[in-house]
Amino acid sequence: MPIYEYKCRKCDKVYEEFQSIHDKPLKYCEVCKGRLQKVFSSVGISFKGSGFYSNDSQKSKSPAAQTPAKKEVKPEPKPDLPAKS
Ligand SMILES: [Zn+2]
Repeated sequence: MPIYEYKCRKCDKVYEEFQSIHDKPLKYCEVCKGRLQKVFSSVGISFKGSGFYSNDSQKSKSPAAQTPAKKEVKPEPKPDLPAKS
């Protein structure tokens, strides 16, 4: 389902609508009755400016994957072997 994004030209209110292609597009702002400007966006769209996009994908990395492995508390090895001298 595509997401249609509308932005009011008067008050800059942004609407995000889940609509099928056959639905009527929004035309007027519910707040100020101003004209809405249609901005199409959908998941996976690549924005202009690759820097922004790559930053975003880095952020989405799961922080859990970066946590170090859980350290097991091991008892110190007992010096039961005679030390070589
Ligand atoms: Zn408005």
